[in-house]
Amino acid sequence: MSGAAHGHDTPVFVFVDLDDSLFNSARKCPPGVPLEPAALLKNGEVVSYTNPRQRALLHWLRQGATIVPVTARSAEGFARVLVDFPGMAVVSFGGVILDAQRQPAPRWAQHMQAALAVSREPMQQACASMSAWLVEHEIDAWVKVVEENGQAQYLLTKHRAADAQVLAQLAEQMLRPWAATRPGWRVFQNDNNLTLLPPGLDKSYAVAYLMAELRAQGDIVTVGIGDSLSDAGFLSLCDYAMAPQGTQLGQRLWECLA
Ligand SMILES: [Mg+2]
Repeated sequence: MSGAAHGHDTPVFVFVDLDDSLFNSARKCPPGVPLEPAALLKNGEVVSYTNPRQRALLHWLRQGATIVPVTARSAEGFARVLVDFPGMAVVSFGGVILDAQRQPAPRWAQHMQAALAVSREPMQQACASMSAWLVEHEIDAWVKVVEENGQAQYLLTKHRAADAQVLAQLAEQMLRPWAATRPGWRVFQNDNNLTLLPPGLDKSYAVAYLMAELRAQGDIVTVGIGDSLSDAGFLSLCDYAMAPQGTQLGQRLWECLA
């Protein structure tokens, strides 16, 4: 029997979230292990590192699979990742698909432009409301609309001292009530990232699109890796899924099984 009949030749694609899945910010790194720089801040300072187990996982994946990063990072933030991903990548929560030359895939760009056009104004409103709330309640956080090529993608709030509890309160008191009255808008918080996603923007939509494109050329095996609840959608599309131990999604999965 040929390799194809056995399935040995079926290409494996790993759709993998980056932050907290393949590397961590310095404050979350385990003590006493050799770390290697994995991502930079805008000022060039190293902000994230890989530990030996993460590097081993990456090495193992590279040997047998094509790795496709699926990240909330903007294209600009993705460019500050030091780990090498030579192929295509999904950035901005699925708002942009980059090819190997880091150019936006034109058909997806067209689709997202139409999908997000109506969200710009409400997102600016949410940003203004959030800014006012932060001032009024003297919360030391910043908020911004993440944009790609001039197009509003999603709202991001971070606490300057990385106080996740303050962000959780902010989500409950301000952002979730805002989203609850607007169909399709979703709020995610994981640690010091509080995000508001407009209708039509989700990692899973971009991954579904890529999977369909790849499968149009022949069968593939898909594996998903992610650490956050916002990764669950694209993981559920994959043949196999992994969540790192001790992460938001990993914990939720074990809680469900316990
Ligand atoms: Mg993550």
